Amino acid sequence: MRVFNFSAGPAVMPVEVLEKAASEMVIYGDAGMSVMEMSHRSKVYEEIIETAEELLRELMQIPSNYKVLFLQGGASQQFAMIPMNLQKNGKADYVLTGVWAEKAYQEASRILEANVLASSEDKNFSYIPEIKGYSADADYVHITSNNTICGTRYISLPDTGNVPLVADMSSNILSEVMDVSKYGLIYAGAQKNIGPAGVTVVIVREDLVELEAAAKLPSIFQYKTHVKAKSMHNTPPTYAIYMAKLCLEWLKGQGGIVGIQKINEAKAKILYDFLDSSAMFKGLAEKKDRSLMNVPFATGDDDLDKRFVKEAAAEGLVNLSGHRLVGGLRASIYNAMPTEGVVALVEFMKKFEKNA
Ligand SMILES: *Cc1c(COP(=O)(O)O)cnc(C)c1O
Repeated sequence: MRVFNFSAGPAVMPVEVLEKAASEMVIYGDAGMSVMEMSHRSKVYEEIIETAEELLRELMQIPSNYKVLFLQGGASQQFAMIPMNLQKNGKADYVLTGVWAEKAYQEASRILEANVLASSEDKNFSYIPEIKGYSADADYVHITSNNTICGTRYISLPDTGNVPLVADMSSNILSEVMDVSKYGLIYAGAQKNIGPAGVTVVIVREDLVELEAAAKLPSIFQYKTHVKAKSMHNTPPTYAIYMAKLCLEWLKGQGGIVGIQKINEAKAKILYDFLDSSAMFKGLAEKKDRSLMNVPFATGDDDLDKRFVKEAAAEGLVNLSGHRLVGGLRASIYNAMPTEGVVALVEFMKKFEKNA
């Protein structure tokens, strides 16, 4: 039996995608072999990676002056590659909205002068802080568009003038309409909302690819290397990219991002409405900044939380523990989580509350 998997990442994937992948696992098309076994330089594979890029461009309406890269090393490698490649004045502004934002900031601090522009650490990262201004000589301003652990997201973007805005979209890329042209660079590990782990998507504006500081970097850490080689500088994560392509096709079938956003808003509302009416469960993020993808909540009693996780798992609702750093409970409800999963979760929460 397939369970409803509320894991924060790697996370649920559309069952249709898994079935399609299974059906062409041993022999892909008329290639006579699986995607895993073929050369990344073959015609068949070239079409797979090109289609993945085209779909991503179409779905996100990526302007033509942006490059799309499929890299390895996860979002965490981008924490380092961004300051390495984008530095000019050797200064960057970071907004601290959670654990991942802090990690990005700490990594950047090893490379350049990273400045904390705003932080919500005072209230356990339960909100998105107001951002007043930015350093005009900063090489970029870094935000985390959705905070996977604390369950907040940016509803509106800070004004950074001519300073490029860089966003870690690992946990909400493709979940709602976003204007790519407002960003200098967007990056996302695939394992939350794009596909399986192993590939990281980077969308970077052309003028940020060939900065002077980058030329001195080892070639594999230069965006330019990967742009020139069309993500084929070395062997890309071929199967993960193929799976991402299938997920993007699925997403297109959901009405694209406009379609999935409607579904995501309705889905999240089911859970938030219940949290707002429950006497036992409380949402942890401030209402105005609530994430559509990650919903942290708690009963306020650690033992009760633990019992909830255990009893929910017995009903096929799994991975509902909060992140080890914040505790409590968390339901990650990415694009691939069906509405029925959220309905089943809320039904179980009601039952649990009544019987407690
Ligand atoms: C999961 C996550 C990361 C880490 O991604 P890796 O691919 O494991 O390096 C970074 N940022 C955010 C917002 C995340 O949700």
